[in-house]
Amino acid sequence: MKVVMKFGGSSVATGENIRHVSSIIKQNAKNNCRIAVVVSALAGVTNGLIEVAEQAKRSNEKQIQAFTTELSEKHLMAIKSAISSEAIQKEVTQITEKTIAELEKVLTGICYVGELTPKSKDYVLSFGERLSAPIVWGAIKDRKLETQCFTGKEAGIVTDSNFGEADPLMNFTTHLIRERLSPLLEKGVVPVVTGYIAADQNGVVTTVGRGGSDYTATILGVALGADEVWIWTDVDGIMTTDPKIVPAAKMLPQLSYQEAAEMAIFGAKAMHPRALEPVIKENVPVRIRSVFHPENQGTLITEEPDANAKQVVKAVAMIREVAMLNVSGAGMVGAPGSYAKVFDVLGKNNINVMMISTAASEANISMVIRRGVLGRAISSLEIALLDRGGLVSDISSEDDVAVIAVVGANMKGTLGVASKIFTTVARKGINIRMIAQGSSELNISFVVKEKDGKEVVRAIHEAFNLDKI
Ligand code: ADP
Ligand code: ASP
Ligand code: MG
Repeated sequence: MKVVMKFGGSSVATGENIRHVSSIIKQNAKNNCRIAVVVSALAGVTNGLIEVAEQAKRSNEKQIQAFTTELSEKHLMAIKSAISSEAIQKEVTQITEKTIAELEKVLTGICYVGELTPKSKDYVLSFGERLSAPIVWGAIKDRKLETQCFTGKEAGIVTDSNFGEADPLMNFTTHLIRERLSPLLEKGVVPVVTGYIAADQNGVVTTVGRGGSDYTATILGVALGADEVWIWTDVDGIMTTDPKIVPAAKMLPQLSYQEAAEMAIFGAKAMHPRALEPVIKENVPVRIRSVFHPENQGTLITEEPDANAKQVVKAVAMIREVAMLNVSGAGMVGAPGSYAKVFDVLGKNNINVMMISTAASEANISMVIRRGVLGRAISSLEIALLDRGGLVSDISSEDDVAVIAVVGANMKGTLGVASKIFTTVARKGINIRMIAQGSSELNISFVVKEKDGKEVVRAIHEAFNLDKI
């Protein structure tokens, strides 16, 4: 069996965790599994890098020193507890020190220039995975397996130049990965690849979006013709909701690609929103499973939903860090192409619209976008549309909202689901700001104030008895 195994930040949070990860790899290798490994940065490191890059932009040089010292200690400590052999420890320590020295130079450069471009930000963010992968590699080597470490770029993942949210050029990537990694896998060598980071056609480092190691894993899974992709994480699988909100949430043993994709897009942090795209085309099964309970099979995601799973609603998710944008103007009424103009402006500015709703009067479009791009969205719409022929007369926004998505394949054609959802929310006295249902009928999503989000999730989870499935 050939498997790509991805270990997320929580699975490699400490040296002990990394040692545990290497034992899982060893165990599976013993059972004749050919394995390619994808690793995320140690938990919290990517967030730290974002923070320090912002500090560097504000020319806060002191912060850089403090950050790199702490980062260095964290990784050196992890090396000591993940790897027993002194020789391997020394080898990985040298790589770590060299990488941190490079990061320090990059941050100092940003500090002097006072500028952080999407390109330089991706470069800074790449250091999280560049530091974690060698430790995992060392821990695997420590267990007497043959292994080799690669950055996403070295492995052959080539993307477009959309820094921060880059997309793979799948044909070229497949060709390079097969050329570089397949022969190793055939020989029983375990390639360890940094998740999240890749390079564009000019060799400039890119990242594929937050949580992107999942995406790296599925890209690799397809390119290598894997039998399955296993996403190891800190929960038992995909659950009926985030167990951090509802501790009684249940694990879903099987989901269709479509259902899992709806959940990923709508905030089940358990997976990157685009991670399923490559595997859907090639029909490679994905399994989400827990490093803390490797004996469990986790959630299996395939083309077909489980024939026995009759329940209508399967899960409820809350997506944070979003904002609602309202564009209105009497000039939009009955004017062909007016919506197209709004979406054209957003599209040209690389702003992804997650949810849309319009009134039948056509005088208003409401959209949900990522909170981080709200300022850019408003300013680009204002420059392009406001007061030009009266098409748009007002642009307003709310940045303290969350999307709640209720997901399940059997919702299609089942009457009364929407009314049950909205009655449940109304009974809590919570106001709904916007509603959308895709024509796929796989999910109903709506916007509430973020402060009410958890309460809504709990109420819906209970109303549909999701803790009893
Ligand atoms: P990793 O570090 O392994 O990539 P993430 O933090 O990205 O892990 O994703 C796992 C987390 O996703 C879980 O700890 C859980 O709190 C959260 N989560 C949110 N919604 C769900 C859900 N429906 N099922 C499982 N986990 C969920
Ligand atoms: N380290 C990256 C992030 O935190 C990628 C990942 O964890 O998958 O977003
Ligand atoms: Mg993740």
